[in-house]
Amino acid sequence: QLNYQKLDPELWQAVENEQQRQENNIELIASENIVSPAVRAAQGSVLTNKYSEGYPGKRYYGGNEYVDIIEKLAIDRAKQLFGAEYANVQPHSGSQANQEVYAAFLNPGDKILGMDLNAGGHLSHGAKVNFSGKLYRSFSYGLDSETELLDYAEILKVARDVQPNLIIAGASAYSRTIDWAKFREIADDVGAYLMVDMAHIAGLVAAKLHPNPVLYADVVTTTTHKTLRGPRGGLILAKEKYAKKINSAVFPGSQGGPLDHVIAAKATMLYEDLQPEFKEYAAQIIRNAQAMADEFSHYDHIRVVSGGTDNHLLTLDLSQTELNGKQAQEALDSVSITTNKEAIPAEKLSPFKTSGIRLGTPAITTRGFKEDDCRQVARLIVRTINNHDNELELNKIKEEVHKLTAAHPIYDYLAPIEFK
Ligand code: PLP
Repeated sequence: QLNYQKLDPELWQAVENEQQRQENNIELIASENIVSPAVRAAQGSVLTNKYSEGYPGKRYYGGNEYVDIIEKLAIDRAKQLFGAEYANVQPHSGSQANQEVYAAFLNPGDKILGMDLNAGGHLSHGAKVNFSGKLYRSFSYGLDSETELLDYAEILKVARDVQPNLIIAGASAYSRTIDWAKFREIADDVGAYLMVDMAHIAGLVAAKLHPNPVLYADVVTTTTHKTLRGPRGGLILAKEKYAKKINSAVFPGSQGGPLDHVIAAKATMLYEDLQPEFKEYAAQIIRNAQAMADEFSHYDHIRVVSGGTDNHLLTLDLSQTELNGKQAQEALDSVSITTNKEAIPAEKLSPFKTSGIRLGTPAITTRGFKEDDCRQVARLIVRTINNHDNELELNKIKEEVHKLTAAHPIYDYLAPIEFK
C-alpha cells in the first residue's frame, strides 16, 4: 500500500471498492465509459496544481508556457476531429458548456426550444427545475407517439408557434439518427440560432458513424466523458465568427481558472479518438447495441422504444412487465448489472419510478464485449426481470454476470495506445 492509502484508509478503501465494482459489474449506463490509462495519467498529473485564467497567450497569471502548449494541442485536435473552425476546451461539464452557449447567444428571458425530458431530452435543454428553464422561457418538442421518432414537421409547427431565439437539438436518450439538416431548416424558418448538444453521440460523430452537426449548427456542445471516452468535462465547437462571444461567456462570463489537468486529459482523449482503432471501437459500440436490441425483440413483454437503435443506446419499455423502471434498475443492481431507470415517450409514471430503463454499450464495448456477449447480457436482463422475486435464480444470474466480466477484465483491453 502507498503511504497516502495508509494515512486515509477509509477513503482509499472506498476507491478500491469502486474499482472492484467497476471490474465486476456489467456497466450499461449509456453516458458512462472507461478511460484509458493515458487519460487517467494526464488527469492525475501536475497540471492540477496550476492556475491559468484566460486563454493561450493571454493569461492572467505567469508560468503558463507549458499549459498554453497543452491547451492549444487540445483545441487543434478538437477542431481536426470534428472539422470545426473554433473550439473551446475549458467548460467544466456538459451542462456548463450549455449554460455558456446560452449566455453567449441569449439574454435572460429569451425563448429556447429543446427536446422534452420524457422524450429523451436533457435537463439543461430547458427543464423547469434547471437553470435553463428558470433563466430562459423554455418550450419543448416531443416524439411522434406512433413511431417514437422525431417528427420534423411537428417540430417546425411548434417552432413557428413559439418563435424561439435558439433551438436545441440533441438528446440523452434517443436511439435514432438525428437529421441536423432538418433542424437547420427549422431554425432558419423561424430565424433562430441552432445549437446541437451531441454529448451522447459525439464519439460516433468523431468516427463518422453519425452525421456531423458541426456542418449544420451555429454551435455544438458535448461532454467528453461519454462515447468520446475522455475525462469528465465539456467542449464547445462553433464557427469562427462566434469565437469571441463564446470565449468571453466561458471566461470570465461563467468560469474562473480552467481545469488544466482535465484539458490535458481531453487532449489525450482527442489524440486517441483520432486513431483508426477508435473508428473500429465506435462501430463495435453500434453493432453491440443492435445485437442487444435484436435479442430483446424475441420477447413479447419487453419492447424496445422505436423498435431498435442506430447508435449506442436503447430504451426498454417495461410497462408489460411486473416492474417499473426503478424496480427493474434495483433488480438488475442486485445481479451486478448497472442501468438507469428512464422515462418512455408515453410515460405515465413519475420521474422517480418511470416505465423504462436505458441501456448503453460504450463501457462494455471498451472492455471487449462483442455481439454474442451482448445477446447474453440481454437474456440475463430478461431473466432478471422475469425472476425478480426468486433469490435462487437471481444468484445464478449474478454468477453468470461475474463470469462475463471476469472474461473481460477492464484494463487488459485498455493498454495505452502507442504515442508515435
Ligand atoms: N447534454 C446531454 C445531452 C447529456 O446527456 C448530459 C449528461 O448526461 C449533459 C448535457 C450534461 O453533462 P454533465 O453531466 O457533464 O453536466
